[in-house]
Formats: sequence, C-alpha cells, structure tokens
Amino acid sequence: MRKPLVAGNWKMNGSRTMIAGLLDGLTAGLTEGCDKTEIAVFPPSIYLSQVKDALDGSSVAWGVQNVCTQEGEAGAYTGETAVAMAADFGCAYVLVGHSERRALYAESDAVVAAKFALIAGQNLVPVLCVGETLEERERGETMSVVSRQLGAVLDGVDAALLNDFVIAYEPVWAIGTGKTATPQQAQDVHAEIRGLLEKRCPDMAARTRILYGGSVKASNAVDILGQLDVDGALVGGASLKAEEFLAICRAA
Ligand code: PGA
Repeated sequence: MRKPLVAGNWKMNGSRTMIAGLLDGLTAGLTEGCDKTEIAVFPPSIYLSQVKDALDGSSVAWGVQNVCTQEGEAGAYTGETAVAMAADFGCAYVLVGHSERRALYAESDAVVAAKFALIAGQNLVPVLCVGETLEERERGETMSVVSRQLGAVLDGVDAALLNDFVIAYEPVWAIGTGKTATPQQAQDVHAEIRGLLEKRCPDMAARTRILYGGSVKASNAVDILGQLDVDGALVGGASLKAEEFLAICRAA
C-alpha cells in the first residue's frame, strides 16, 4: 500500500551545465523499470526553474531543501524562500529538519515544527528528517532522540496538517561518510518510528512512508530497501549521478 519514494537531495551541488546533464540522464533512463517507484529531486533553489522546465510532464517530482520560517508569501526576509514560492514552482515536497540544517544552521525542534506546519499548510508534502549522532547512538539514545524530533512535530503541528507527510530516518553518522546503517539497524528504527505513529496518529501509521538516508548507493540499496518498514531512500551523494540514482530507484 505504500509506494516507495526515492528522493535525491542534491544539497549545495551543481551548475547549470551539470544539472542539464543530470536531468537528461534521469529522463532518458526512466523508462527502464522505474514505474513502481516515485522519484523526486531536491535541487538548490536557484536551479528550480531549470529543473521544473526539464521535468514538467515527466514522472519525476521536485522540491526544495529548505523554506523560510516566516509565514506569508512575501516580506522583508533577505535571502529567504517562502513556501508559497516553492508551491508556485510546482514543488511537491519540501525537506525539513535535515541534520545539516539542524547542526549548521541551529534549527531547533520548534523551528522544524513551524516549518513543517507552513509546508503542510500550502498542501506540499513535508519530508521530515530525523536521526541520531554517533555519540547518541553509542549512548543508547537513538530512539529517545528520534522520538523527541518526531514528537516535536506531532505535538506542535495542528492535527489537520498531519495527513500527508514523509519521514526520513537519517543517522547523522551515516550521512556522507560511506558508513551505512545495516539493513537490520535501519529496520529496527523504522519499525519503532512506525510504532510511534501508531500511538500518536494511528490512521497515519500504515500509510506514512519512512525513508532511510545515509550513504545509500546502488551497491547497498537492494538490501536496505528490502526491509519491511523501509519505504524508499533519501539519497545525497549518489543522487548526483543519473545512472547510480536510477539504479537505486530500480532497487526500491
Ligand atoms: P548521503 O546524504 O547519501 O550523501 O549520505 C544523505 C542525506 O544527507 O540526505
């Protein structure tokens, strides 16, 4: 009942030339075995128009990596992108709470919850990222961290806005490090996250997709994505090469 989602987080990578090649590769390779998987890409916002032009009418969705916390469509917020602007460009999804935003830009659980509400309020689908650091895992705090991060959203966001979202479990120690969680480690946390949803918003538990993220590559995708509660992947580095990314989409 849950259609897998493979999402490419391009982070702050790309140029017009590089992105044109990547989009060509993606659209050309889509025909082979990708129809059972939903695919989305998250370019840097400045390239949104280029991505929209190339992907309009294709089966690939797109979204932004971050939006402004301020409500409303416009205002004196130098350097920010309003969620209404993401909607205006046809975004389907918005990443929220990525560990790089939490760690490098001091985004608290409260900020993440506020952004989540703004995104859902525009009828875009938030992709809520959660995950523990290595120290937290070693202290046995994985589930307390993940449930605090998820709980901040479930407590802070109006229940009416909690009807369509995606969760990405991304252990911080696995992001960009080449170290992945084992399929069993991923499955264990995903099952606990689904259990939390079961308690807090039971009608969402079975239908909410929980993606795994952290050094997903073509070579490990089959094992990780084969787990019962892993409904797709949030892919960083490996989403910058069309062939590799499409191989992950086929594995889902
Ligand atoms: P990675 O990044 O695949 O390069 O580890 C994943 C992410 O940060 O979303």
